[in-house]
Amino acid sequence: MAECLFCVIVAGEIPATTVLETDRVLAFRDINPQAPTHVLVITKEHYPDVAALAAADSGLLGEVITAAHRVAEADGVSKTGYRVVFNTGAQAGQTVLHVHGHVLGGRPLTWPPG
Ligand code: AMP
Ligand code: ZN
Repeated sequence: MAECLFCVIVAGEIPATTVLETDRVLAFRDINPQAPTHVLVITKEHYPDVAALAAADSGLLGEVITAAHRVAEADGVSKTGYRVVFNTGAQAGQTVLHVHGHVLGGRPLTWPPG
């Protein structure tokens, strides 16, 4: 997936601000943050979205969620509250077709989302 932006980040070919890394998961700060904490948690292996990941490897999806919580703890937002969002498909606003969970926190988050 040479043309996938997040595969390029996994390969280290464009820089990202990494906040957590395991053998199968990478978390880095969003380049256009929407909250004081805005971190993307991705799988190192390419899956187009969370549905594809869930179907192929539910254990790895669990690792992504565990990593999201660890990111929230590291950024000090796990007690005040945070949101994990997997935009899936065009109408949800998914722009990068490599599964990523947005970890958002550090300010009150409105509901419903826009
Ligand atoms: P989505 O719209 O859910 O597909 O989210 C894609 C996210 O990737 C957006 O929040 C972008 O700001 C973010 N993004 C795009 N390019 C980069 C990059 N080079 N480094 C970090 N985050 C990025
Ligand atoms: Zn990819």
